[in-house]
Amino acid sequence: MSAAQFSWSPGKIPAELIEALSACKNPLILSHVYPDGDALGSAVSMHRLLQGLGKAPRTVMTHPVPEKLNFIDHDGVAEFLTENPHLNPEDLVAEADLIVVVDTSAPDRLGLMEPAVSAASIPKVCIDHHLEGAFSFFSSIWCEPDSPATGNLILEVFNEMGVEPDTNTAESLFVALATDTGWFRHSNAGYMAYQCAARLVKLGVEPDPVYNRIFQSFSHERTMALGDLLNRSTLCLEGKVLYSVFTEEIRSKRGVSMEDLDGFVDSLGQVKGTEIVFLVVEVGPMRFKVSLRSRGDVSVHAIASRFGGGGHAKAAGCRIEGAEEEVISKLLEACTDLLGDPAKGRA
Ligand code: AMP
Ligand code: MN
Ligand code: MN
Repeated sequence: MSAAQFSWSPGKIPAELIEALSACKNPLILSHVYPDGDALGSAVSMHRLLQGLGKAPRTVMTHPVPEKLNFIDHDGVAEFLTENPHLNPEDLVAEADLIVVVDTSAPDRLGLMEPAVSAASIPKVCIDHHLEGAFSFFSSIWCEPDSPATGNLILEVFNEMGVEPDTNTAESLFVALATDTGWFRHSNAGYMAYQCAARLVKLGVEPDPVYNRIFQSFSHERTMALGDLLNRSTLCLEGKVLYSVFTEEIRSKRGVSMEDLDGFVDSLGQVKGTEIVFLVVEVGPMRFKVSLRSRGDVSVHAIASRFGGGGHAKAAGCRIEGAEEEVISKLLEACTDLLGDPAKGRA
């Protein structure tokens, strides 16, 4: 289904989705692999909404979130598959009467939960804002690619169900929105994002300490690693593309974790004239995770999807296997194609 058919229309929540949330007793709340602030913030807020309505929800993430984001799960309701070997996807699904997926609509992004969820015959609902998804996988889906985050959609669900979020929930939703918009700086931060932020601040969120916790609490090692990354950046294709590679060697030399790399791609995107910025991170032998950002009119989603990934027009990602040089040249080829013919993918 094209993005145009899912234009942002606040309040247009499918009635069946609200009915499913109202009718369930044991919902299982899930999100995408390697959850970010929007995934966790949306999931725990949904958890509290349903718990407050007398249901017994469980929220299960495949992987932990970056440590500095843990505070948005104020009551520690989220459970993590990789940290708890006793959690079994089949059992979790068998105990549920509704599956609620937030911040992804692509079943393969459910990672280890995917086979059990695919096999389940219970209703599955989804609230998301990504460009790609298997809409027929869900009994009811509300997907708004023009929405800055999933968190603000969850706030709409609170409104629709007549529930006022408490201050903790407002903070979780604020972080969901603030992280997906790069603290309200990216092009997805428009009227809706600022209006939603204003409402959440009115509900008691204090933006300054939240900013400090997330964006000004890095280790010195992380700062040095960022220096390495910036030093190794390469400007090419007539100054329109800037990229850098973060190797396992630099990571172990600096002693930083994968989660410390969060935000690195945004620090790369500060060079005048660049249209596409990407960061390639070595995650294993011949395995790379790629983060792409568009600073112009082209859609980096077109590049990510060429390699089986996805995301949004201005921020997308994928994984590519091969030798480092091979991976870079494939990505540069995709950039050349796109910049030569932007009709192939306009943001
Ligand atoms: P990141 O560069 O990891 O911050 O991701 C940017 C956007 O691309 C986010 O919306 C992600 O959900 C999406 N994304 C990242 N990696 C993948 C992937 N392998 N497959 C699909 N979407 C991805
Ligand atoms: Mn996300
Ligand atoms: Mn999101």
